[in-house]
Amino acid sequence: MLLTAIVPCYNEEETVADFYTEFIKNREFFDSRSLDYEILFIDDGSTDRTVEEVKKLHEKDSKVRMISFSRNFGKEAAMYAGFQNARGDYVVTMDADLQDPPSLLPEMFQGIDEGYDSVATRRFSRKGEPPIRSFFAGIFYRLANALSKTEIVDGARDYRLMTRQVVDAILSMTEYNRFTKGIYGWVGFKTKWIAFENVERTKGTSKWSFWKLFLYAIEGIIAFSTAPLAIASFLGVLFCFLAFVLIVVIIVRTLVFGDPTSGWPSLVCIIALISGVQLFCLGIVGQYLSKAYLEVKRRPLYLVKEELDTGAGGEKA
Ligand code: UDP
Ligand code: MG
Repeated sequence: MLLTAIVPCYNEEETVADFYTEFIKNREFFDSRSLDYEILFIDDGSTDRTVEEVKKLHEKDSKVRMISFSRNFGKEAAMYAGFQNARGDYVVTMDADLQDPPSLLPEMFQGIDEGYDSVATRRFSRKGEPPIRSFFAGIFYRLANALSKTEIVDGARDYRLMTRQVVDAILSMTEYNRFTKGIYGWVGFKTKWIAFENVERTKGTSKWSFWKLFLYAIEGIIAFSTAPLAIASFLGVLFCFLAFVLIVVIIVRTLVFGDPTSGWPSLVCIIALISGVQLFCLGIVGQYLSKAYLEVKRRPLYLVKEELDTGAGGEKA
């Protein structure tokens, strides 16, 4: 049996070597269940010495593989490339910065032994994170779950152990706009959740800015829900109803009190409000249209510049 660890790396020159050291500490455990391993680093267009660091590891240990992108395509693309190129009977995705502790692997394999198809991890708390980030993350998860039938778990990390069957299911989803947290929920299968205390990044800096996370959140909602599209129809009906009531009120008032010309400020307010709502709805439609546009173009999710491979894990698919 073979385990593939998929590790997306973007400017992680400081952490890849540490990651390898930590991961290898599981060797005894791997041997005890006669499990072979391969570590598949996906270099997501790093501009630092990440590629050189991985090559050094590869010289030491031929079980280290690498796929290097031609530019930064994002973590989602990196994980997809990992799934496509993993040869393992089991696949685990983990971050390079040791925020997904490799020491958890034996416990995760227990879940597989218990008959689960995948073992996922979540954090107990968001300790050590900026409060504003936690606040908006909370709003996002509540909104996403209210709008979508696919369950998106709060605090879930991308640290997940899966059987080959689950990996093949994920690969069968070939969409361009990938939101992995939603994809895991969508494919289903029996999943065991393990909670662990949030670990802070050891070296380097987080690659996510607030703005990047915000755009990612919108992407997630759009990818797994079409409910926002209904907002326009709902508001349309509401305003028609209001307008009808207003018309009746005005006709009655004119018949009873005559027709003094007044009320242009209220008119301006109403026009401003309604055009605001219209633009808002148009924006929502535009978001879906832009996603559909990218989807039909069928561009590749990533482009490979360089590959480090030994064929140690068997035939390449
Ligand atoms: N990452 C990536 N491409 C990107 C951004 C991040 O491959 O465009 C990788 C990064 O190298 C790390 C993982 O995704 O291994 C998680 O990123 P990070 O630690 O910056 O995110 P955070 O833990 O702060 O959410
Ligand atoms: Mg991190």
